[in-house]
Formats: sequence, structure tokens, C-alpha cells
Amino acid sequence: MSSGKTHSIVNTVICSSGCIVALSFYPEHRAEVLVVAFGAMISTIFLSPDLDLPGTFSQKAWGWFGWLWFPYHLIFRHRGLSHVPLLGTLSRLIWLFFAVFCFYMLLLTIWLYAGSDYALGASLNEAYATSSLRLTEVLSLAKQHNHLLFLLLMGMSLADLSHLFLDSFRLPHFFRFK
Ligand SMILES: [Zn+2]
Repeated sequence: MSSGKTHSIVNTVICSSGCIVALSFYPEHRAEVLVVAFGAMISTIFLSPDLDLPGTFSQKAWGWFGWLWFPYHLIFRHRGLSHVPLLGTLSRLIWLFFAVFCFYMLLLTIWLYAGSDYALGASLNEAYATSSLRLTEVLSLAKQHNHLLFLLLMGMSLADLSHLFLDSFRLPHFFRFK
């Protein structure tokens, strides 16, 4: 297995060269190329397939929020679902969405509980209804820009494919970084 740093360096080199080549051939599609590159770098730094292991480069990149990934590597064994092309990418996105949503709801409940000593149920219902409305707005916004989301997902999947490719063979010592 290559280290997180090796994966990051290789992905950054591939991504930058790919960007230069794509932009020189298709300068009119600058926005699309940059979205793909952005997706690839997000996946490389924050959403690497190695999030199925504790204490990895990607988990550390989350800083204090690294704990959001503890259940993920407890549920999925190393090189299991997280290392399957596309499905692994989707599993981490779904997990992230679920974890952030649960964390937000927990914070909301604590905040309302601490802030109001009466009519807590009504306040919670109102807050949850507002949250659902916001979620619907976010989903409809995502629907409007689904081509950009597709490109973002494509960038993430390409970065993951590079990771899986690198995982599949041992690099010469010279190319390994601690
Ligand atoms: Zn890996």
C-alpha cells in the first residue's frame, strides 16, 4: 500500500498535467475542466479510499472533524467497499452527507434545548421543518446544476481510480514518501 502522501503527490501531478493538457486542447471548456480537477483534488485530500483505515492522511486533513470518519472505518474493512471504483466514492459521499446531517441535527437539538425551557417540542418541530425546507432547496439547486455535479463526481472517481491503480502494485522505493 502506498502512503497517503505518495497518493497525494501522484494524484496532484496527474491532475495538474491533465488540466494543462485539457485546457490547451479545450480552452472554451475551462469551467468544466476546473470542476473535474477540483473534484479530483477534493477526493485526494479529504475523501480518499483509505478513509477505511484510522489515522490516515485524509482523516488527518479533516482536523478536529476527523472523528466523523471513525464509524466509517469501523463499518467497512480496509480495501473493501471503499476501494471499489465509483461505489467507494459514492459510499464516502453518502456517509459524509449522513454524518453531517446527524451532527447538525444533534447540534440543533442541544442548542434549542439549552435555549428554551418551554415549548421545546414546538421549537424543535419548527427548526426541523426549516431544515427540511433548506434541504429541499439544496436538492433543487443540485438538480439545476446536475452537469457540474456529474463532472465533480467524475473528477473524484478519476482520483480514486488513480489511488486504486497505485494500491495494486508496489512502487520502487525512490517513489515512496513517508
Ligand atoms: Zn488504498
